[in-house]
Amino acid sequence: MNLTILGSQGAIPKLNQFSSSHVLQVGNKNILIDCCEGVQFQLRRYKIKLSNIEIILISHAHGDHFFGLMGLLTTLSLLKRDKKLEIFCPVSVLRIVQAHIKYAKIKFSYELKLNGLKSEKSKRIFECPSYIVQTIPLKHSIYTNGFLIKEQPKKRKLLIDKLKDKKIDKIYYNKFTKGLNVIDEDGNEVSYLDVTKEGDNSKSYAYCSDTSFCESIIDTIRGVDLLYCETTFLQRHQDKAKSTFHSTTKDAGILAQKSEVKKLLIGHFSSRYDDIQEFFNETKKNFNDVMLSEEGKKIVI
Ligand SMILES: [Zn+2]
Ligand SMILES: [Zn+2]
Repeated sequence: MNLTILGSQGAIPKLNQFSSSHVLQVGNKNILIDCCEGVQFQLRRYKIKLSNIEIILISHAHGDHFFGLMGLLTTLSLLKRDKKLEIFCPVSVLRIVQAHIKYAKIKFSYELKLNGLKSEKSKRIFECPSYIVQTIPLKHSIYTNGFLIKEQPKKRKLLIDKLKDKKIDKIYYNKFTKGLNVIDEDGNEVSYLDVTKEGDNSKSYAYCSDTSFCESIIDTIRGVDLLYCETTFLQRHQDKAKSTFHSTTKDAGILAQKSEVKKLLIGHFSSRYDDIQEFFNETKKNFNDVMLSEEGKKIVI
């Protein structure tokens, strides 16, 4: 998994600093998470292949998370995309997109499938051979989901010497890597456990924006390889965070600590602050392995 940060800021973008958008690459597929205003320029700037975007996930209906969506969808059509594109978003965003398509009489070159989300519980919303997407219901001023993306379990690794000792035909190798036993030519059952070892660990990424501190998501995100949690405010503005349903540096640090995640990425910084280093220093007080969002930063998960 590879993550590229397209936007690091909160609601008000700055020159060359955009609102929330991430691209997660799993194998050769791209998952676009939130669509800030100007997202298509950021995708081009960081050389993300538009044609490899398989799904788009939108957290909520605040503009800093989806104002770039219609521009991108239209451009993909003008570029004559022919692959199906699926969007998962709150029903409110779905209605806005449908209204835009209707009143602008847009005819896309590709099949656009809009999936409206409204559940308050964590749900598996998409699965393909390489990854699974699950929602993370968050606590914001309007209906909001974060997203947990997990690689599918990796295939088991063959123990070639053991397979040769047992004189097992290569046609069975694939079955063993999938964790299946095989009956050999002599009618004996060969257990996959005897001829394979565990595959590599599957990686996971949790994206949580926007939210106030939310104890109920801890079980869903526990132990992920990378957690993104918004930190709109520094600790001295905790009252502001509370009234707008956002997180502070301390909230994000404690969430990461309690969820026992491996690494924490913070972002969605309020435009009132000039020095984002302060976010890093404050968050570190509660969780050591922390990174700051910056446009163009690439993270290998
Ligand atoms: Zn926001
Ligand atoms: Zn918001």
